[in-house]
Amino acid sequence: MNDLLLLGILTIAIGLGWWLGRRSATTKGGLWDFHSTPPSQYYRGLNFLLDGSQDSAIDAFTKALEVNAETFDTHIALGNILRRRGEVERAIKVHQNLLARPSLPVAQLHLSHLELARDYISAGLLDRSERLLKDLVTESGAHKRVAQRHLLEIYEAQRDWDKALEVASELLPKRSLLRARTGDADEVGQSVPALLSHYCCEKAEEMIDRADFQSGRGFLEQALRYDSACVRATMTLGSLEVKAGNPDRAIKVLQSLAQQDSDYVAESVNLLRDAYMAANRRGELLMYLKESFKRAPNNSLVLSIAEELHVCNGSDAAKLFLRDNLESRPSLRGLALLMKLHSQSEVGEDEALELATINKLVAGRSRYRCGHCGFRGQSLHWHCPGCKHWGTIKDLSITREADYV
Ligand SMILES: [Zn+2]
Repeated sequence: MNDLLLLGILTIAIGLGWWLGRRSATTKGGLWDFHSTPPSQYYRGLNFLLDGSQDSAIDAFTKALEVNAETFDTHIALGNILRRRGEVERAIKVHQNLLARPSLPVAQLHLSHLELARDYISAGLLDRSERLLKDLVTESGAHKRVAQRHLLEIYEAQRDWDKALEVASELLPKRSLLRARTGDADEVGQSVPALLSHYCCEKAEEMIDRADFQSGRGFLEQALRYDSACVRATMTLGSLEVKAGNPDRAIKVLQSLAQQDSDYVAESVNLLRDAYMAANRRGELLMYLKESFKRAPNNSLVLSIAEELHVCNGSDAAKLFLRDNLESRPSLRGLALLMKLHSQSEVGEDEALELATINKLVAGRSRYRCGHCGFRGQSLHWHCPGCKHWGTIKDLSITREADYV
């Protein structure tokens, strides 16, 4: 399919380039004599295509199609197709070929520059790409923001959060830190405050690993100033306060998740349990979970409450709660927990097999999904491994889709 598409696009591109080149040659006097015969490279390219040698055909066509301001878009399109096909080395050659023509208008040279930087990112040559993008930021007003966005991509891949924070801060609108950005028409990506907020969380996690809780707290407060809806900052702050030996403060912070985004309350249960236990207030956790469930019910909270009931009030209380809720909120994980609670008193061969089967089914299914690209996984990632968006992954049971577990 891709090859067929490329073949069609190439044919059109060469035809268009030919026509434009011919027009150019007739009016200005070009390199080819278009009134006589086409260049030999064009025939060679056609032969290669007919023989099925697409790689050689691409090389021949690139040589045949004269580079000038009018055929420029065709070359850019060809390079981009090659990059998307994963033929990055060829894409680099096409874009370098354009950059070797200083006679092209500056705007076109800058675009070639940008495309070459993108090729280098695809090839994993991040240092080279970074140099090109930094030049573009200085030299090209038109591509400055897009180049800065690509620099962020590079610093995220390198986990260089200081540089990422520096560049993202430059992308913020000057007059207000929290207003929406005004970017180029072709600028894509998440809002800058949301990015800054996650970069601050990354820095905070580094500080927490070094037991530098004060600096960590500073980064998390900054994260919430950039984006007050950043649940990751709240959860990380709760975790920090548990580790720093402030369980009461941790409980207060984690309870604020209910107002910030109730979809994430179930994610905070383990942290809350640690905090309540450290504060000798374990009994209050169940009350808080039940209140949260009343306000915003979901399957994950059903499980958390049942588990807490089991520990505090015994298995009968947990089974009763599960039975009451499984009918209206059916889930494999709920069923597995109910069977596990049964099997503690009534272990039979059949029950053990049923439980093992359900557990295998649960283990094979994804619990989380990215709301942006649909990536599915077993754990909550703040940075989606699929689309590289931040904070777009949620518990599937929140959405109550047909395949929730
Ligand atoms: Zn995604």
